[in-house]
Amino acid sequence: MLSSLFQINTYKMATKVSIGVLGIQGSFIEHKYHLQLAASRMEGIEVTISEVRCESELQSVQGLIIPGGESTMMNILMNKTNMLNSIKAWQDNGGKIWGTCAGLILLAGYVQDNCDLPFEENKSIIGNMDIKVCRNFYGRQKDSFVGQIMLQDKELIDNGNENFQGVFIRAPAIVSCGDNVKKLAVLQADTEKVVAVLQANSMASAFHPELTTNDSRFHTFFIKFVAGLVKA
Ligand code: GLN
Repeated sequence: MLSSLFQINTYKMATKVSIGVLGIQGSFIEHKYHLQLAASRMEGIEVTISEVRCESELQSVQGLIIPGGESTMMNILMNKTNMLNSIKAWQDNGGKIWGTCAGLILLAGYVQDNCDLPFEENKSIIGNMDIKVCRNFYGRQKDSFVGQIMLQDKELIDNGNENFQGVFIRAPAIVSCGDNVKKLAVLQADTEKVVAVLQANSMASAFHPELTTNDSRFHTFFIKFVAGLVKA
């Protein structure tokens, strides 16, 4: 009786993370949907999801997804609004970024516009990942495809399923990675082709995980990355 009076209830506090999706251009609605789905299936993490278009919205999040779309256009729009500088400063202070497709191009340290042209140091000032990326590697819009991806990281592999269906739309290719870059996934048809990577506070994928139906493993992974539960 006395012991039950003095019983101390220990409640497990949920980890709270706030994730924004850059809503300037591209497939940001689909990313929000997958974040919601992933968050609803996770225990112990409370996720707030928002759209980010300006500095003050950026300051309220700990993780940012830069969606696929058109990297040249995103670069122009974000330069005009000074968002590129803001994002760089925010990431230097610990913010985590996941760039998908065009977002990957913005994160790459070196980019070539097509395979015949030389690599140029990324003019985008986010370009802090030690990867070389070739834009439109697989061809034009009509050459877009759905390809099997093999996951390389145990945190991404759920129930032993190493496969992920990747949607590649006018996709870039990661043609080389520095030693400090973790390879998260490769293309099944050509396992030399790395299609998702992690380095320091950045994650990048060449395909569109937000367009794969009912499979939110990459979004779950990013939530854990932002929460500090997985590290580069
Ligand atoms: N090819 C586009 C670019 O260079 C990227 C395509 C995409 O994000 N689906 O920006």
